[in-house]
Amino acid sequence: MSHVPTSIDFRANVQQVPSTMPAAVQKATTKFLGNRAALVDALGNDVWQALRQAGHDLRLHAISNLDHYLEQAEREVIKAGGQVHWARDAEEARRIVLDIAGKHHTRLAVKSKSMITEEIGLNQAMEAAGIRVLETDLGEYIVQLKGMGPAHIVVPAFHLSTEEIAALFREKLGVDAPAEAQKLTQIARMKLREEFLAADLGISGGNFLVAETGTIVTVTNEGNGRMCCTIPPVHVAVVGIDKVVPDWESLTVLLKLLARSATGQKLSCYTQFISGPPRSDAEIGPREFHLVLLDNGRSRILQTPETRETLLCIRCGACLNICPVYNNVGGYAYGYPISGPTGVIFASQILGAKAAGALPFASTLCGACNDICPVKIPITDILLHLRRRVVEGDDLEGAAAPYFLRVGAQVGAVALGTAWLYRFGSRMLKRLQAPFVREGWMSNLPGPMSRWTMARPFPAFAADFRRWWCHRSGR
Ligand code: SF4
Repeated sequence: MSHVPTSIDFRANVQQVPSTMPAAVQKATTKFLGNRAALVDALGNDVWQALRQAGHDLRLHAISNLDHYLEQAEREVIKAGGQVHWARDAEEARRIVLDIAGKHHTRLAVKSKSMITEEIGLNQAMEAAGIRVLETDLGEYIVQLKGMGPAHIVVPAFHLSTEEIAALFREKLGVDAPAEAQKLTQIARMKLREEFLAADLGISGGNFLVAETGTIVTVTNEGNGRMCCTIPPVHVAVVGIDKVVPDWESLTVLLKLLARSATGQKLSCYTQFISGPPRSDAEIGPREFHLVLLDNGRSRILQTPETRETLLCIRCGACLNICPVYNNVGGYAYGYPISGPTGVIFASQILGAKAAGALPFASTLCGACNDICPVKIPITDILLHLRRRVVEGDDLEGAAAPYFLRVGAQVGAVALGTAWLYRFGSRMLKRLQAPFVREGWMSNLPGPMSRWTMARPFPAFAADFRRWWCHRSGR
């Protein structure tokens, strides 16, 4: 069983966005962007741009030499006493984790926040197998109680008010919860502490995997990640193959970029390094450490030069915070746990154009995401390539766009590229549109165009562009 989406209708999802969402999202994103800008200013723009370039170059180097660094990381994890599993896709990854859980008779698993386990629908698969899975990041804990997924990749529950969270705690936990952030955190902490002690399995993701020592790096602002990875007797880390970095020197650059871009901190509160299980009885920690390395379409992304840099992402969330679309619709409209610009380019490729063909169009192409991205991913170039793939298809999938759109796009391309046809066409359109025009707008077009005018009016073709241009320039 999996909750990996098979079809995403962005426009329909947008209709479900509560009216309070934009204000709640913008309040939080404004704060994060302000914090980030202050730290970038303090560092100086030249230093920041040099850091971004270094981050881009070393991430690109890592994914361009994945075979080398992944094999090195595997050797080092095994040398340190860990076990390494390779998963081709989400189903294989779920099976591996379920097998490990089954071997240890797991009844309760505690998880630290990880987008990759959301990507593979791990919670649903484990629950279906009779294993209780508890999210322990405060935001994830809240959205799990609410029966939802994360609304943001860094701050999953930031769209909920303290009043809403207090009401949720009263309803689901049966406690007297006042609408005060500190008290609510204390309640969650006390509940979670009992669960950490009772858990049979700890599950985490990994922000990075350092190849030279086989070390998993997790970056959090709460102590929950540390508890998940140290208290239960078995720890499973599910990590994308794209997360590998060559060495510790590379890691220092990426950590500087990540914390500043994500929450506007110089460094996150907890940066945890895990290199296998304890070496002796004197050391504490899980007796077994498993690393699940997941491909799930990443190697295909790697093979596509136009979209390869999708894999540079360090999931900082800055492109969500700056995106005008995300700021107006929030995370759930994307229909995928990773939302915003990075989610759009990732999900479109992981799920394919048939399931997620709507996502590359959920962008204004304003380019703010390109400018803010700490590893300089050319997001809008990738979006344009993905839009073309939706319309024209590729070697794996046929075109996903409706037939009339594809034909319309081809006719439009010919008309715009042929002067006489453009002139003739615009005169014809002006005549044909006449029955539908009311005060310069068309709001009730027939046939396929009704899909547009159902949502918003279409401006009437006002004049022949050439005539307008000649008139304007006095020629
Ligand atoms: S695409 Fe860039 S800005 Fe967006 S989450 Fe990834 S690293 Fe951050």
